[in-house]
Amino acid sequence: MALVQSFGAAEVVTGSCHLLQLDSGLNIMVDCGMFQGEVEYKNFQPFGFNPKDVDVLLITHAHLDHVGRIPELVKKGFNGRIITLRSTLDLAEVVLLDSAHLMEDDFHTHFKKAQRRGSEKRVRRPLYNVEDVYKVYSLPLVYAQYAEEVPIDTGVSATFHNAGHILDSAIITIRYHDKGNEKTVVFSGDLGNHNDMVMPIPDHVRHANTLYIESTYGDRKHQGIKESEAKFKTIIQETLSRQGNVIIPSFAIERTQEILCILKQLYDNHELPTCKIFLDSPMAIRATRLYDNYHQELSQCCNDYLKRDGSIFEFPNVHYTVTQDESRRINNEHSCIIIAGSGMCTGGRILHHFKNHIWNANNSVIFVGYQANGTLGRQLVEGAEWITLYHEKIKVGAKIHAISGFSAHADQGELMQWIRGFETLENIFLVHGEKKAQQVFKTLIAEQTTHKVHIVKEEEKIWI
Ligand SMILES: [Zn+2]
Ligand SMILES: [Zn+2]
Repeated sequence: MALVQSFGAAEVVTGSCHLLQLDSGLNIMVDCGMFQGEVEYKNFQPFGFNPKDVDVLLITHAHLDHVGRIPELVKKGFNGRIITLRSTLDLAEVVLLDSAHLMEDDFHTHFKKAQRRGSEKRVRRPLYNVEDVYKVYSLPLVYAQYAEEVPIDTGVSATFHNAGHILDSAIITIRYHDKGNEKTVVFSGDLGNHNDMVMPIPDHVRHANTLYIESTYGDRKHQGIKESEAKFKTIIQETLSRQGNVIIPSFAIERTQEILCILKQLYDNHELPTCKIFLDSPMAIRATRLYDNYHQELSQCCNDYLKRDGSIFEFPNVHYTVTQDESRRINNEHSCIIIAGSGMCTGGRILHHFKNHIWNANNSVIFVGYQANGTLGRQLVEGAEWITLYHEKIKVGAKIHAISGFSAHADQGELMQWIRGFETLENIFLVHGEKKAQQVFKTLIAEQTTHKVHIVKEEEKIWI
């Protein structure tokens, strides 16, 4: 029998890291992501396994919660093959370099403060630096293509299917032999939202003995896309008409490109009042360029834009602000739209914009992505009246909105529909979700299907 253990994304949404240990002794890891929000401290704990024992690493997609600990995995001794789609590795480089820089900046800020208190020894050092990120890219890299079986070992292979979540995100099927019988385990990675303007809809997988499926939105349905677009448009029009600014905290990958497409659509339909739009995130700007490079993987709508305009994400009044000076100059702007990271407001330029604008009732903040427990984004979505920024208490005067229809994740209905796409399936294991959402989703699966379903606990030994 084969053994699967999840060392992250077990009863939480972040830190994806699943290890499949085959009878033959081959150890295959699927993702090695960072914990975020209230479980962030886990990044500083040792791995629950020996990285030297991992033979192959498969990556579903380039979000930080799926790739964020890979440099550390390599630092601690992993030197096997990495198999993934080519653009995933390119996007992961952007994500990991950003993560290394953030950790180094954070360390220097805290270290200086701690020095003044004489407690500098207690300051956590960054998990890795820029050189460590580049070391990942010196390992043997195998590029997968969608729907092509990649051999891993005798009788063992991996096939990547389009998950429609972010650029080149994948659902991974692993085929292996167990006492002469062929078995299949499928890891869903993160599954996309069917209404995504930028990504195609997720591929269906027809057969599996075992399915590990994400359950981020297992307990809820997103607002409809039409409703979401209408709400988005109204907030923007109302805010700009009272000379306010619209601030959109956005994940650099996917949310940002989706928001740019939606704004472009409003512009095309003459529904966007004349205003400057700032994409104020160097990382999002780099990611957007990669989306341009790999446009053939994107939706028909993106490719139509490219054909018509010569670009997908650019249109008049959009400004990409790379330098800090350019970013600071936005402080003097009124009636504008600012898209900045990080998506959950745990760092990055969005905090400066909050400091300048969140107290002012003329302004609006629109959340368009998932906000993990313990993040500033979650506090705001849940109605915090005060927030603390740079040790300063600030009143939340701006109007706070959350629009779930633009999520990069499938909602409950789409997850169920995707499960129903299987013709043969035995067991379902729920990962990548908060406990409450998983309980609801588990009950629903048990009621509506005949599959056995189980919520995976961290490091729990699951024999398949
Ligand atoms: Zn993701
Ligand atoms: Zn994820």
